[in-house]
Amino acid sequence: KHTAELIAAGEVVERPASVVKELLENSIDAGATQITVAIESGGVKLIEVSDNGSGIEPEDIPTAFIRHATSKIQTGEDLNAIHTLGFRGEALASIASVARVELLTRTETAEFACLYRIEGGEEQPLQPDARGVGTTIRVRDLFYNTPARMKFLKKDSSEGTFVADVVSHLALSHPEIRFKFVREGKTQYVTPGDGKLRSAVYAVLGREFSRDLLDVGDSTLGYRVYGLVTPPRCCRASRSMQYFYINGRYVRNRTMMAALETAFKGVAMQGKFPGGVLLLEMPADLVDVNVHPAKTEVRFARENDVFDIVYHAVKLALTQPGS
Ligand code: ADP
Ligand code: MG
Repeated sequence: KHTAELIAAGEVVERPASVVKELLENSIDAGATQITVAIESGGVKLIEVSDNGSGIEPEDIPTAFIRHATSKIQTGEDLNAIHTLGFRGEALASIASVARVELLTRTETAEFACLYRIEGGEEQPLQPDARGVGTTIRVRDLFYNTPARMKFLKKDSSEGTFVADVVSHLALSHPEIRFKFVREGKTQYVTPGDGKLRSAVYAVLGREFSRDLLDVGDSTLGYRVYGLVTPPRCCRASRSMQYFYINGRYVRNRTMMAALETAFKGVAMQGKFPGGVLLLEMPADLVDVNVHPAKTEVRFARENDVFDIVYHAVKLALTQPGS
């Protein structure tokens, strides 16, 4: 195995949650409206993602697992360049180099589905199989061939929680997709896929959290912020119930957090922190989301503008009648 290949795999595939994120993004890219995620042993033993997206043509299947010809993984310096490219075309290849992968897929025009297996980069011939249009990918025994990496994993329940977070983050920002999440044999939730943020929040975060959420919505100067926040009298929120997105991407961000919390200052609150789901759309050239592709941090060109728009939008929601 080429060293560069393993280094690259290490960058994109850090733990089960990173595999799940890549697979879900592929399902979303494929236009899926229904996605099921199931994990066993925190995702270390098994990750299964099944979608009703476009499927993959049989002749394209092996190619999907090959690093793109334009891949820049040749020198150490190039690895930095890959960072900022977001590993385009790297995910399946990386995953297949460190796990046993099975892909079952069918396109609309295909007469039957195709089953493809690849283990530690060794592929087996395609076999005809059955399923509806879409793709199922099973990733078993993550890091079975790289014990050194296996050692960096936390216990299964913690890995499972990282996976759960990734699924929640995507389910909340894609209310138009029906997400089903099964953890260790138990269905955690099914979102309705009706396009409404409120329904997704209800399914993912529960009835208790979802009661009386206030609508947030405001826009100015190329920025738009929308979402839901807990009402002031809510005492069930915590900082772990604050979800922020920038241009569709889940982020952890101090500026948005400070804006949300500052907007609640002076409002009689029962709990210590407000909760909510806030999505910010803004000019792409004013935000750098590539601080680290596997992480969720961002940098703004104009941090004050971001603070102002979020603060103002939440403040507005709090002064609406009924809040
Ligand atoms: P990238 O997403 O950057 O193109 P990946 O390695 O994640 O690279 O995927 C390789 C290719 O495999 C994708 O470009 C796509 O053509 C195909 N693919 C992967 N997952 C799916 C899926 N769930 N449905 C349809 N096509 C998929
Ligand atoms: Mg991908």
